[in-house]
Amino acid sequence: MNGQIDIPQQNLINIPLFDSEPDEALLAEIKQHIRETQRPHTWRGHSHTKPPQGAFVVYCDEFNVAAPDTVERVAPCPCCNPFHPQYKNSGKVAWFPDEKVIRLIGPLCFKRINATGHESALVELRKKMKARRELEVIKAHIPTIQAVIDSIDALVPIGEALDEFRDDFNRALDHDLNLPFFRAARMGVLTVAERTIVPVVRADGSVGQRVEERPTAFATVVGYSMYDRSGPVAAKKRLAPLRSALVEIAARLSASGDLEKLSEAERVRFAESLPASRDKLAEVLEDAGAKQSFLTSGTIDTLAQWGRHPHALHQFSIQRKRNVIIMSSSRQRSEGHVTIRVPPEALAHLPSLPAI
Ligand SMILES: [Zn+2]
Repeated sequence: MNGQIDIPQQNLINIPLFDSEPDEALLAEIKQHIRETQRPHTWRGHSHTKPPQGAFVVYCDEFNVAAPDTVERVAPCPCCNPFHPQYKNSGKVAWFPDEKVIRLIGPLCFKRINATGHESALVELRKKMKARRELEVIKAHIPTIQAVIDSIDALVPIGEALDEFRDDFNRALDHDLNLPFFRAARMGVLTVAERTIVPVVRADGSVGQRVEERPTAFATVVGYSMYDRSGPVAAKKRLAPLRSALVEIAARLSASGDLEKLSEAERVRFAESLPASRDKLAEVLEDAGAKQSFLTSGTIDTLAQWGRHPHALHQFSIQRKRNVIIMSSSRQRSEGHVTIRVPPEALAHLPSLPAI
C-alpha cells in the first residue's frame, strides 16, 4: 500500500524489558533516538503492538517528531494506525507496567482504549513535567548560590552608603535649599525657560509684541533616581531577606545531597525563590549603578551649568570636592553653603551579577 511504513521485525512483538518506570537516562535515550532519526517506531525498546483494551498506562514524557510545517503526520502509532503516519507533536512515552513494555504513541490515541486511564496518566504527566522543570531551575542555580550571597554581602554596604547620601541630599534640597529638583527635572530632563518674542495684533488693529516663555530641554542627566525618589531604596532591607533565603536553601541542598530528596513544597519554593533572588539582586545592582553614576558621570557638572543658566527655573550652585557636595541656592532659607558628605563606600566598586 502506498506510503506504508516499515516497522523493524523486532519491534512488532512485545519487548517486556521494563519492570520499573523509565528513569531520566532512559527517557534521554528515547528522546535522542527520536531527535536523530525522526522514527520513534525504530527505538530498540519500543513495542509496536496494540495495548490490550482497558490497559493501565503511565505517561513518562512527551516528544515531538521533527518534520516540515507542511507535514501534519509522520510517525505510526501502535494503538490505532500502526503502518501509516498518525501523529507529529506531543507523542507520549507510555509505560505499561502489566506488560512491562514501553510504547511510543500518538498524543490522544490511548483515550479510545482506556479514557479514564488516559486522563489520569495525563494529569500525572503534567505534574512530573512541572517537577522536572523545577529541578532544572534549581540545578542551574546551585553553582551560583554562594556567589550571589557574596555579591549581596559586597553590595549591602555600598547600597547603604548610597541610601544615606540620597537621604541627606534630598533633605538638603527640600529643607535647606528649597529646590524642587524632583519636579523641575523629571526623568532627568533639565529644562530652562526659553524666551521668544512673538508678534500680537491689538484690539485696535495695531501690531505689537510680547515675550513668551516656554520650558525647553537644556540637558538630560543620568542617575536621576538619586533625587526623583522613584528608584528602589533601602538596599539592606531589600537584600537581607534574599540573603537569608539563599543561606537556608544552600544549607538544605548540602544536607540532602540529592535533589530528588527535596519535598514537593521545598522544590516548588526553591525553584521560585532562586531566580527571584537573582532578579532582585540584579535590580538593586542596577539601581546602585545608576545612583553611583549621579556622582561620577558628569551629572553634577551638568546640574551646575543648569543652575547658572540665566533662564534656569531656579538659580543655584553645586560642586563636588572630594567626598563633599557643596550647594547653595537663591531660594535657600539660611546663609552660607550647604555641604553633604559622600560616604566613601558609596563609590566602591560594585560586585557583579554571577553568570548562570
Ligand atoms: Zn494511535
